[in-house]
Amino acid sequence: MSIGKINFGAGPAALPPEVLHDVSKAVWRYKNTGYSILELPHRGAEFLEIIEESKSLVRGLCGIGSDYEVLWMHGGGRMQFSMIPMNFLSGKETAGYIDSGHWAAEAIDYARYYGDIKILGSSKETKYDRLPAWPAAIPADTKYLHFTTNNTIYGTQYHNIPDISIPLIGDMSSDIFSCKRDYSRYAMFYAAAQKNIGTPGVALVVIHKSLLDGITNKLPPMLDYKAQVKENSILNTANVSGIYVSLLMLRWIKAKGIATIEAENDQKAAMLYEAIDNSKVFVPHVKEVAHRSKMNVCFIAKNEALEKDFLKLCEQNDIIGLQGHRAVGGFRVSLYNAITAESVTRLVELMKEFETKV
Ligand code: PMP
Repeated sequence: MSIGKINFGAGPAALPPEVLHDVSKAVWRYKNTGYSILELPHRGAEFLEIIEESKSLVRGLCGIGSDYEVLWMHGGGRMQFSMIPMNFLSGKETAGYIDSGHWAAEAIDYARYYGDIKILGSSKETKYDRLPAWPAAIPADTKYLHFTTNNTIYGTQYHNIPDISIPLIGDMSSDIFSCKRDYSRYAMFYAAAQKNIGTPGVALVVIHKSLLDGITNKLPPMLDYKAQVKENSILNTANVSGIYVSLLMLRWIKAKGIATIEAENDQKAAMLYEAIDNSKVFVPHVKEVAHRSKMNVCFIAKNEALEKDFLKLCEQNDIIGLQGHRAVGGFRVSLYNAITAESVTRLVELMKEFETKV
């Protein structure tokens, strides 16, 4: 199967060709229904099967049991930035946030509408080129600690985190299912789907029942985790096709296995960082090796003219989506699970070819 252009975009990101193939078949006819997945009723038996299979796959992949609720939500990552403080904070209650990048900071801005938000670590001063130190002491009255496991725009990632005594909430939008991880350490984790697990607009949300039991706020049902759990993510017209794409992604991840995926991701990232570190033209944004992301590799070239030239060369070679976010400039190469080692090899070869010409 031809893969077409190599898309290193940060999201909406590349999906595996096998998944795209299965989606396209379902867009024409979903199983033996005689109609399209785009027409599938959200209250029918077929969609319920999709929901139940996806929940069971999430639990299996995360190694968690029925003490966690699994939800598919509308509104992507930012809706979770809003719902977390709305649901878990009342009155002047305090939550702790780690400010490790653009999305972490946006989660903080959203939370400030609802509670007393304490920033328990920040790397803003150094343009988020490293991870902030993990908070040494967290006040006991902190309702939860929120952090971003992988910082999509600046290219840093937490590879290890110490134990903490308060509920931990992780935004895993850009690295969920990319490596082995002890998900049971989290009271809640969530991921906007459009990178490793599907298409935009959908978010996977997993919450421990003890955290749900503590919710006392009165909220409109769509914004209330307890109401969403009660309705099994089908409170209103669900994003049937988006959730179906996520189911196909989960099946693909399970078939491949997280251990294989992690080994491939390690290999891809090592190849690319090695090329950058040995380059006379390219400069990494994150110098601290232990803080580097294996999902989003950010680097610049020695000057803007070189950056333009390299982007042009990439486009001429059907390699797209690697322009850096405007906050960092340069390049950002996203190495999500669907990106193959061959694609990274192709990019690295092009980087080397470029260097010989400048
Ligand atoms: N969190 C992280 C880590 C992200 O990378 C993004 C988007 N790239 C978001 C949250 C926001 O997701 P959305 O655009 O779906 O609101």
